[in-house]
Amino acid sequence: MKLHCYCSVAALLVSVALAGATNDRYYKSLDFDFFYHVQQWPASFCDTKFGCCFPGNEKPEADFGIHGLWPNYAVCRTAEDAGRPLNQSNTASALALVPLRRRRCRDLIKTNGRRVRAQIRDLESDLLRNWGTLSCKNKESTAFWSHEWTRHGTCSGMDQHAYFRAALEFKARFNLTRILLDAGIVPSDEKEYFLSSIRDAVAEATGSAPNLECNRNERNETQLFQVYQCVGLDGSSPVRCPMPLPMDGGCTDTVKFPAF
Ligand code: 5GP
Repeated sequence: MKLHCYCSVAALLVSVALAGATNDRYYKSLDFDFFYHVQQWPASFCDTKFGCCFPGNEKPEADFGIHGLWPNYAVCRTAEDAGRPLNQSNTASALALVPLRRRRCRDLIKTNGRRVRAQIRDLESDLLRNWGTLSCKNKESTAFWSHEWTRHGTCSGMDQHAYFRAALEFKARFNLTRILLDAGIVPSDEKEYFLSSIRDAVAEATGSAPNLECNRNERNETQLFQVYQCVGLDGSSPVRCPMPLPMDGGCTDTVKFPAF
């Protein structure tokens, strides 16, 4: 009985170790360092001079919407190093760096809205609620999803279903709108907020300080537009954002967070 017990524990430990090794190998095979989970504030998309459109003319809820889940390098790579894992690149000593923060995948999978749709049918209502297009160029969100999959998802190491599900689950787990409301950061056309208070609120709730991007409304006022949360290679755990990141957020010390 005792022997059986020891054997079971040993077998469990071996399988956990093997699973760990398999995971390690899998993560090492990925050609990026972390994901950006990017969400856009709809009011700040809509109140610029470009305006916005809603699929089916139905205004969505006043909630952040997913823009994408983007595989990223932690540092710029040389053109020569692009495509190699960080631990095999010579980037640190290179002079001519190219910004590859949002590089294209080399192995683009030709895809279209219909093919994307077939594989994620069970996620569709969740996607429509949380990843809707606001662009007037697209009449339907499927074109947006298709673009995000082709441009970013194909580098993720995940299949289509896992990719979209990971992005949805991350948003559901860390509800940005709720996090900001709980910190007293309420959408308003009058108030201004310290950028640091927005960053701190997200950092406190998730354990990781996000990067923030701002744009300007038609009155040329700076407003919070997108929140970039850093996520580990598993696509689910928040990680510390690599510093310094080659990113110009366009924000000022105080920003608007407009009503929608
Ligand atoms: P990305 O920045 O992800 O590489 O490209 C975004 C593309 O998706 C652009 O071509 C943009 O026109 C299109 N798009 C469609 N709907 C949306 C939307 O709601 N927000 C943003 N930011 N882009 C959208």
